[in-house]
Amino acid sequence: MDLIDSFGRTVRDLRISVTDRCNFRCTYCMPEEGMTWIDRSEVLTYEEIERVARICVEHFNVNGIRLTGGEPTVRAHLPILIQKLSALRLADGSTPDLALTTNGSTLRNVAQELRDAGLQRINVSLDSLRADRFLAMTRRDELANVLEGIAEAQTAGFAPVKINAVIERGANDDEILDLAKYARDNNLEMRFIEFMPLDASNEWERNKVVTQDEIVNTINAEFPLTPVDQRGAAPAQRWSYNDGKGFVGVIPSVSHPFCADCDRVRLTSDGQFRTCLFATDEFDIRALLRNGGSDDDISELIRTAVGAKWAGHQINQVNFIRPKRTMSQIGG
Ligand code: SAM
Ligand code: SF4
Repeated sequence: MDLIDSFGRTVRDLRISVTDRCNFRCTYCMPEEGMTWIDRSEVLTYEEIERVARICVEHFNVNGIRLTGGEPTVRAHLPILIQKLSALRLADGSTPDLALTTNGSTLRNVAQELRDAGLQRINVSLDSLRADRFLAMTRRDELANVLEGIAEAQTAGFAPVKINAVIERGANDDEILDLAKYARDNNLEMRFIEFMPLDASNEWERNKVVTQDEIVNTINAEFPLTPVDQRGAAPAQRWSYNDGKGFVGVIPSVSHPFCADCDRVRLTSDGQFRTCLFATDEFDIRALLRNGGSDDDISELIRTAVGAKWAGHQINQVNFIRPKRTMSQIGG
């Protein structure tokens, strides 16, 4: 049975945060010090995550799973979870698409293992190609390791590797073209992301958002672009380079919200089910998992949550309320 919300959108994509912890401290995501971590006893085990994912895939035809965090690769034995999830099958026997978003710091060591475990797609975050700026934005001196990790992911057979860059005015907006060139020259696909009000330091301001139109105009002036029709439920709007050197995408959550086509739900690392990054309410799946709830009980909670999914986030409205959790605590 499909999971359809009250606005007629069908859920197809489950984002699972496997940890709220991270080895970076990106300025637009976490403070330098003082994050409070979820106690390990509250974090779902791999068996618990697999159970929720299985229900979504087998009962509700969810055909895409993305692992995220925090930094998913800092959780021990991640390939074991990937093996479990890659064994799931939809009712028609097909395999759900299995993807990972990572900061890339450990990829040079684990890319092949992740691939061998059954991971199909990978997105690596990279906001700057300048070592000093990378350090300023992530608060970690890891640029060389991330670049090596991206290359290693390609060697391991991920194709294309996608690169996520959050563009923040005054921080890295002068690197849009450099990042686009880097991706074009290295057979990668860039995803520029508009800065969203989910940073833990609460420093988001509208004028720090570099909009999709600004990003596309900057690239188009140097490398002419043609929009690719039909983004469907995908968050990125895509363009192709007219010279045939691949594609570039923008995730315009602030300037062009795509809520009307949203097909996503989220599971936090402590087992809370959310129907939107910006949702202000959550549904406690962990309580069912740990108190003898049946698969039907869990399915019912998921149906209730999806039934209550709102039309869309209110970032552009005066009544916008920031969710209590920040990006790394929800799972971006
Ligand atoms: N640690 C991994 C990483 O950085 O790729 C996965 C988790 S991270 C929360 C997922 C994505 O969210 C990353 O691409 C990151 O750049 C993005 N992100 C984090 N904070 C953001 C914000 N305030 N606005 C927009 N994107 C953000
Ligand atoms: Fe960590 Fe990813 Fe947040 Fe950066 S964006 S602090 S890498 S969770």
